[in-house]
Amino acid sequence: MYWIDECVKKIIDTKKTDKYVCAAGITPSGIVHIGNLRDAITSEFVFRGLKEAGKDAEFICSWDDYDRLRKIPKGVPEEFSKYIGMPLYKVPDPYGCHDSYSVHFEKDVEKDLAKVGIRPRFIYQHKMYLDNKYYPLIKIALQRRKEIARILFNFKVQDFSKEDIEKYYPLTVYCEACNKDSTKITDYDGENLVSYECKCSHKETADISKKNIGKLVWKIDWPMRWSYEKVSFEPGGKEHSTRGGSFDVASKISQEIFNNPAPVYQAYEFIGIVGMNAKMSSSLGNVIKISDLLAIYEPEIIRWFYAKTKPLSMLNFAFDQQILKNYAEFDRFAGKISTNSATDEEKQIGFYSQIKPGRKIKPNSLSFRQLASFVQLTKGNRTELEKLLKKAGAKFSQDNLDARFNSALNWTENYAPPEYRVSVESNANKDYFAKLPQGQKEMIKKLIKKLDQHWSEEALMNLLYDIPKSQTQDTQELKKIQRKFFKNIYMLLIGQETGPRLNTFFLALGKEKVTNLLDINE
Ligand SMILES: [Zn+2]
Ligand SMILES: [Zn+2]
Repeated sequence: MYWIDECVKKIIDTKKTDKYVCAAGITPSGIVHIGNLRDAITSEFVFRGLKEAGKDAEFICSWDDYDRLRKIPKGVPEEFSKYIGMPLYKVPDPYGCHDSYSVHFEKDVEKDLAKVGIRPRFIYQHKMYLDNKYYPLIKIALQRRKEIARILFNFKVQDFSKEDIEKYYPLTVYCEACNKDSTKITDYDGENLVSYECKCSHKETADISKKNIGKLVWKIDWPMRWSYEKVSFEPGGKEHSTRGGSFDVASKISQEIFNNPAPVYQAYEFIGIVGMNAKMSSSLGNVIKISDLLAIYEPEIIRWFYAKTKPLSMLNFAFDQQILKNYAEFDRFAGKISTNSATDEEKQIGFYSQIKPGRKIKPNSLSFRQLASFVQLTKGNRTELEKLLKKAGAKFSQDNLDARFNSALNWTENYAPPEYRVSVESNANKDYFAKLPQGQKEMIKKLIKKLDQHWSEEALMNLLYDIPKSQTQDTQELKKIQRKFFKNIYMLLIGQETGPRLNTFFLALGKEKVTNLLDINE
């Protein structure tokens, strides 16, 4: 059974409810990366699946902007370390364009998520806490704090002495005076009055029924929100999913303290990157953001990757030449979908790859490989590129080009390995030609002689494959000769051993240019 279907079935079988809530969560700490995308997209898939199954469902995504600022990510001024320990929503925007640190990162990521078709109801945790929505549940957690401590102790989350258990409070207080969490709860009356003191010397006794003073510690905050939001499904990184890990602890607390069974859970593997060197990676702050992925991959392709990969399998996004294969594979897949020759599972994958349910994925007649080389020949000039593509016989719509133009440009400018950089030689390379064996020279001369009669995509293709046949009868030998023949043409045209498909490349370059570079008289 396809993994999303399996998840959906499990939820329907185990949770009896009028409305299924699928949750995801992200901390807007300034380093929202493609690992977070797996959280949100997994929940969105399941939400979509539940709706397909005819169920009422909602998709929520929490911004954990009531979490403390832990460390200063790259790109944020070092002086921001003075805000460490404050809730993220209280920290100013380092770039000065939004109301706070957290809003700055939230708005960016919300835009990127929408591009990938992820449009949950966002919940801003600082608002929920400050509006005191969680007060009744916080009170339960405080009243049953010793039971919580025992659960944490039994799961070996924390080592408690008897005395520690007496003094344990599952609430982190943000000091009213300095906004930081350098606080300690000194007394609780068992109802609403909490006393705390802060390192800054501020002391206070607050009535938690009247105002919120802090956040539940994470392993209690998580199940508290399952209870508040009535969550039926939530995915989580595999680091939380080990036996006795965060999810197990939170489930126990959910059941024992909040009297609410844990949601159906789906663990997922990390997301990896291949084909990025240290320099590229450090220029991105060593964190691959959703926008970095969107700069080179179409959103449907990103969804397709997540949809076809089981959550516990490692998923690697390629930034090197593997991207060409990925695009080609996607085009083949989309071709199967559009010609109705896909298997049932492929149809499901196709459905979840749609940005919006119903907006079918289609193969793009412009191959990314061709675009990536032609975009370099025209130095990113779109009008010139269109002319060149038409000259080369490419058939495409503006939509086809829109979908891939920027990705191809970004990839070639930022990530393409040197052997994929295409720049046409300005002069004939006589030295290279002179060193070729006689047979190879003859083939190139023959090619030039016959160019005129073969100036079309198909005829050029036939010509390029026919010429080496005059050199040998042996098929193995023929392959070798062919490979050398093509390599020599590439070397003379672009100074590289490989390049774009030769027939369309010739058409794009034009007869005159090809002749200038290949017709060499010794
Ligand atoms: Zn901003
Ligand atoms: Zn303080």
